[in-house]
Amino acid sequence: MQQTKDRYRVILSEEEIPRAWYNVLHDLPTPLPPPLHPLTKEPCTLDDLAPIFPMGLIEQEMSPEENIEIPDPVLEAYKLYRPSPLHRAIRLEKELDTPARIYYKNESLSPAGSHKLNTAIAQAYYNKKEGIEHLSTETGAGQWGSALALGCKFFGLGLKVFMVRISFEQKPYRKTLMETWGAEVYSSPTNMTKAGRAILEADPQSPGSLGIAISEAVETALASEDVKYSLGSVLNHVCLHQTVVGLEAKKQMEKFEDYPDVIIGCVGGGSNFSGLLFPFMKDKFEGKNFRAIAVEPIVCPTLTEGKYDYDFGDQAGMTPLLKMYTLGHDFIPSPIHAGGLRYHGCSPILSTLIKEGYVEGKAYPQTEIFEAALSFARTEGIVPAPETAHAIKCAMDEAVACRESGEEKVILFNFSGHGLLDLKGYEEFLAGRLR
Ligand SMILES: *Cc1c(COP(=O)(O)O)cnc(C)c1O
Repeated sequence: MQQTKDRYRVILSEEEIPRAWYNVLHDLPTPLPPPLHPLTKEPCTLDDLAPIFPMGLIEQEMSPEENIEIPDPVLEAYKLYRPSPLHRAIRLEKELDTPARIYYKNESLSPAGSHKLNTAIAQAYYNKKEGIEHLSTETGAGQWGSALALGCKFFGLGLKVFMVRISFEQKPYRKTLMETWGAEVYSSPTNMTKAGRAILEADPQSPGSLGIAISEAVETALASEDVKYSLGSVLNHVCLHQTVVGLEAKKQMEKFEDYPDVIIGCVGGGSNFSGLLFPFMKDKFEGKNFRAIAVEPIVCPTLTEGKYDYDFGDQAGMTPLLKMYTLGHDFIPSPIHAGGLRYHGCSPILSTLIKEGYVEGKAYPQTEIFEAALSFARTEGIVPAPETAHAIKCAMDEAVACRESGEEKVILFNFSGHGLLDLKGYEEFLAGRLR
């Protein structure tokens, strides 16, 4: 008979989708430094955030409740693609000749191809509930823009997307995908906003950055009453929505009769890793021992080389100041294919966990992550997003270290998204043209 631990996948039933998100703010050992008003530098009140976000999300941003119920319409939309499977990477283990057991939570099966739909659906719902007609947002690689386009379509909202120029040019099919789901897409910096025009004046060839695109999207929301802004990562409510990932993964690890020694995720703004990690963090606060590793690109080393300080979320300085690891809000990383990891800051919650030593940071260069992506695609079959490949590379390194030490470590990582719309990066790598 096959042992439980030699199963390839654990798939939960529809009834096992979590009914509540887990709010790690409830269990943090030290309280999170509050966001500060961009002009007064005083802690933000609910009303300060009201011009940008709906009240339902602002309340979640600051909520002390441990569990926050998932509304029925959100749960109904989750049923299209959740629960997501938890796989054991048996073929990859064999290839690496490792005694380690490698598990991955597969968020690539959502219609948008990544974990981002988990919060896109929730954010569209709370905006709709408060009578908002349109959302504005930024997107890097196009994953967030496409997820939000679909979320908005589900709840009948319009969407304007400011897409970082370098990705707009590298990933034309993402734009088509967003338009297929009904969004309007602009190459950022645009000349439609003050923030965009200022950048273009200084550098007409600017490749753009998430920081600039956020400024443009926030400015657009501030300019009209019925438009609100939506952010796909970083903020507490976004990480909260992503905890469906970790809550499911915890149940699935139980069914595998295993528990992770190492939990790994790639980090842009920190949402997919937070989503997987936070439900396990609860155990860690209670004394459970495992390592947590946040992986980033070497060209955007927020966690490994940034400062832990208050900074703006956007380039122009319109957002509240967040206490986080940051490279400075005017940092423009060089273009890499993992566009979703080109962000100067990081989730304040994840930042404090790193600051206090609960989570480690690690950085890899682009060529190494594409090598790892190929090994994964050639064993497990799924073609990873370049962002996801950062987590894969780290998981593979951990597994290879076990080959040398003989340790039977249990490694869990988040497979944040597939790379079927990132084939240009693969093309360049396979042709030996990738820097
Ligand atoms: C956006 C994205 C990321 C990075 O964002 P986080 O908020 O750090 O999760 C990682 N992987 C994929 C596939 C993405 O689309």
